[in-house]
Amino acid sequence: MSARRILLVEDEPTIRTAVRDALRSQGHEVDDTVDGGEALRRATQHRYDLIVLDVMLPGVEGFEVCRELRSQGNRTPILMLTARGSEDDRVRGLSLGADDYVTKPFSVRELLARVDACLRRHDWGGGTAKLRYLKGEGLEIDLDRQESLLDGANASLTPKEVEILRYLAEHPDRVVSRSEFLTSVWGYPSGSRVVTRTVENTIGKLRKKIERDRKDPQVVITVHGSGWKLGEGIRPCDG
Ligand code: CA
Repeated sequence: MSARRILLVEDEPTIRTAVRDALRSQGHEVDDTVDGGEALRRATQHRYDLIVLDVMLPGVEGFEVCRELRSQGNRTPILMLTARGSEDDRVRGLSLGADDYVTKPFSVRELLARVDACLRRHDWGGGTAKLRYLKGEGLEIDLDRQESLLDGANASLTPKEVEILRYLAEHPDRVVSRSEFLTSVWGYPSGSRVVTRTVENTIGKLRKKIERDRKDPQVVITVHGSGWKLGEGIRPCDG
């Protein structure tokens, strides 16, 4: 199974740590939080392949998180962690739109098996196809060879600038935040509190090379207060 992005919501530290480490040992990228409200925010801002969600949480409880996400039209698979022997919990979770549940206490092996099954059932497809070219707004970019043309002239993008475009193209139709860029493109540890304008500065330089009008960017669009997304006019293509 290829690496996926998983949101883990669990307030008990020992379980959270054990589950997080187990998922990471399988190569998955794991965000974790102890709080239902924070879970809702993250699940709304980012696209996850799976949410592992405890029922009993401080603040907004797991059922409410599940119900709210489904009412927003969010179809991300949800695996609930329910209390031992509580049939009510299981039925309630499933009726609110959870995909599966694991009963506490569970073994790490059992959990990983459920996670795999859940991911397999909800294979998004597409996510594994490797992007090669980006075209539009006067640009032709070969992501693998790192060759870039703007209106036929060499745009001379650096490898980092190409990686920014690749990352945006791999996560279409959503906003990529500064911290996500720092983690995914720059390789900072997840959750590190870095105060830096590296991302802004790099995107500023990138725009000088790829935007026909820097005052009106059409390729890397700023979403104020949130991050960046790829413009409508530039899309991946096969050749
Ligand atoms: Ca709990």
